[in-house]
Amino acid sequence: QSDMRARLLEVNKQAAKYFYYQLISPRGQAAHDYLVQRGLTEETIKQFGLGYSNKYSDDLYKYLKGQGYEDEFLKTSGLVTIDERKGATDKFWNRVMFPIMDANHRVIGFGGRVMGDGMPKYVNSPETLIFDKSRNLYGLNFARASRKQYLLICEGYMDVIALHQAGFTNAVAALGTAFTIFHANLLKRYTNEVLLTFDSDSAGTQAALRAIPILKEAGLTVKVINMKPYKDPDEFIKALGAEEYAKRIAEARNSFFFEIDVLQSEYDMADPEQKTKFFHETAKKLLGFTEELERNFYLDAVAKNYQIDVEQLRKVVNKLGSQI
Ligand code: ATP
Ligand code: MN
Ligand code: MN
Ligand code: MN
Repeated sequence: QSDMRARLLEVNKQAAKYFYYQLISPRGQAAHDYLVQRGLTEETIKQFGLGYSNKYSDDLYKYLKGQGYEDEFLKTSGLVTIDERKGATDKFWNRVMFPIMDANHRVIGFGGRVMGDGMPKYVNSPETLIFDKSRNLYGLNFARASRKQYLLICEGYMDVIALHQAGFTNAVAALGTAFTIFHANLLKRYTNEVLLTFDSDSAGTQAALRAIPILKEAGLTVKVINMKPYKDPDEFIKALGAEEYAKRIAEARNSFFFEIDVLQSEYDMADPEQKTKFFHETAKKLLGFTEELERNFYLDAVAKNYQIDVEQLRKVVNKLGSQI
């Protein structure tokens, strides 16, 4: 098995090199133009080892066969599918390629993006013996070397790359999957604090709400960056630049207040009935703080920020607490 792992790492490395040389060859001109148009420099393209998978649907297959790899093994690698009738087909074709590296810079899989608006926008390698999406984070191989006290967590490949290029070399992303406790524990090896910089659309907000308790469970301090009115860190930095983004980092909010803000947006605060429900829900969340001093600080802050008498809110919390 460890031999198999080594062979899988080797073939992924070969594929990454092949994709890179395609990108910088004349055949990769359109893909290269696409990356440049998205604001990436030559240096960034090289650092992240970006590439291009050709239009011919068995291009990589033929190359790897030429390198001596067997069909059965190539199937296992996830780079190629082999159908009895149709023969071999590359998993990726005519896409910009993002090699996914583990924390030790070893290529374990790929993401591939269409150039332009095709569907699906991204295709990722299937899970293999070496590629477990729930246990790896894109960009961690570079981010772990950053001297910052915290790590930035964003949604996508392009966000990580744009952030690194802008000097925020502490950014990582999950691989198009939900955040897991394995991700959180992996992060905890390198830092005690994370700042979420997910997309500001509702999918991103929901992803952040799901990630927060998991990250806290691992013992991480969690803050949330507001990127509005832009959709994601890539677009934010393109529009306003690194300095403005650094300000947003400085203004990042405690994840509890982010959760309460999202909660509030679900209620019509002009309606007493809805307002009551909102404060009941808030009181429930406050009960989650088991340490008295900490709970009181949050209670004070909520009372101040959401215009409710602090003693009134405390009564609700205490009553709920005595019921459970
Ligand atoms: P771009 O990467 O071009 O900036 P985007 O910001 O709109 O596009 P999102 O749709 O926000 O990208 O996707 C963020 C991340 O989610 C991607 O980097 C990718 O990892 C993952 N993802 C998006 N679409 C898919 C898909 N169809 N299948 C698998 N993963 C996907
Ligand atoms: Mn998104
Ligand atoms: Mn984007
Ligand atoms: Mn996005």
